[in-house]
Amino acid sequence: MSFINNVIEKVKHIDPEQKEFHQAVIEVLETLEPTVERHPEFVKAGIYERIVEPERVVMFRVPWVDDNDEILVNRGFRVQFNNALGPFKGGIRFHPSVNLGIIKFLGFEQIFKNSLTTLPMGGGKGGSDFDPKGKSDGEVMRFCQSFMRELYRHIGPETDVPAGDIGVGEREIGYMYGYYKKIRNEHTGVLTGKGLDYGGSLIRPEATGYGTVYFAQEMLATRGQDFKGKIVAVSGSGNVAQYAIEKVNELGGKVISVCDSMATVIDEAGIDPDKCCYIMELKNIHRGPVQEYSERYSSECFLKKNVWDVIREKSIKIDIALPCATQNEIDEQNARALVENGCYCLAEGANMPSTPEAVRVYQESGMLYGPGKAANAGGVATSGLEMSQNSLKIPWTREEVDRRLMQIMKSIHKSCLDASEAYGRKGDYVTGANIAGFVKVARAMMAYGVV
Ligand code: NDP
Repeated sequence: MSFINNVIEKVKHIDPEQKEFHQAVIEVLETLEPTVERHPEFVKAGIYERIVEPERVVMFRVPWVDDNDEILVNRGFRVQFNNALGPFKGGIRFHPSVNLGIIKFLGFEQIFKNSLTTLPMGGGKGGSDFDPKGKSDGEVMRFCQSFMRELYRHIGPETDVPAGDIGVGEREIGYMYGYYKKIRNEHTGVLTGKGLDYGGSLIRPEATGYGTVYFAQEMLATRGQDFKGKIVAVSGSGNVAQYAIEKVNELGGKVISVCDSMATVIDEAGIDPDKCCYIMELKNIHRGPVQEYSERYSSECFLKKNVWDVIREKSIKIDIALPCATQNEIDEQNARALVENGCYCLAEGANMPSTPEAVRVYQESGMLYGPGKAANAGGVATSGLEMSQNSLKIPWTREEVDRRLMQIMKSIHKSCLDASEAYGRKGDYVTGANIAGFVKVARAMMAYGVV
């Protein structure tokens, strides 16, 4: 058994139930095989064994009171995975599916993603199995306050800086930050994704979606192409999806799909800027189902199906795919259908939205494939820019932040290509992203000795 396989087997053995974490570890470590030969010093220093073990895991009780005065209890998590490059950094997810394995997968991915941004940020992630859907603002506030009542002792602007993720947007960040400020009596950059009035950065809400499209644009440019006139499938209808749609429209592409956890909408006429504004209002203010879009714009709606199921079943032709909903949303069958329906470029706005089998299909087809840790790194990169502005106590303009975001996405794209070539896998963005992200963290870990 190879050295890398030994490390993977050990990870599976000690936490057999953490399937998503295994998937993320396998996806990264298998591509790190060339580094084992090139850097025997990493093997000697136990870097591979150490990098798959979080620095610290915090699990805690989150009791809260609903509008009927009933006491409910959820479980909270914060996985502080690796702080070799800077304070732990990564979002908080509120979703009923959250468990330790999912938070560990997300925290592990975050190490390499944050390294790729070139900003001084380590990797971490947190969350709870709390479901904000259908809850009143008061209930969400009481939950967030209870969550922060424990989390505050583990985080800090130089220690660990959480942000949003699925189910955690500006409303939730506001409640959590407000409570932190109250109990610590300090106004400091401890969370990112804050509102503009109290330390947030312009472009942070847009950053993950915009960044994903910038990354796709860079990939397309390697083949002399761009978004103009291209048919684009987007999944999800939350933060990442909304701004991916906005940017594709700006660049002249046509987005024909969105979905949520209940249904998929196909609008062959295109989700133009007005329709995109409607989705933002529907999802961010009324918090309604995407089905209401199809009623308003007389477009087709498919209940209990995701975008990729519908593209396969209806043989819908697309050029570019931007999965922006959740992990493992594209399986092998749907990946094959994407290729058969003409898709030649896919950039992941979501984290790990493609199963390993789907990734194999993309790679065998020669598709331009941008994995999440590179393609969606614009969100955390702009969180890094928010931290810089908080430290400087000077906000930058929209243009300044967007310019830096685009520069960072270009530099991530270049790092992926350079590393893929340097390690004998030219044009393979998965290997490139993993190796470029890993080597920097590994070098820092070497410098610290065994800690
Ligand atoms: P949101 O909560 O804003 O949106 C998530 C969207 O995905 C919602 O439309 C949700 O539907 C839909 N969704 C969730 N689960 C499913 C499912 N099983 N099937 C179909 N649709 C589903 O989250 P974000 O947009 O912030 O995050 C989306 C993805 O992007 C996640 O993988 C996240 O980790 C990743 N990401 C986010 C970043 C950020 O800055 N926000 C940064 C980097 C990555 P519904 O409305 O029904 O809940």
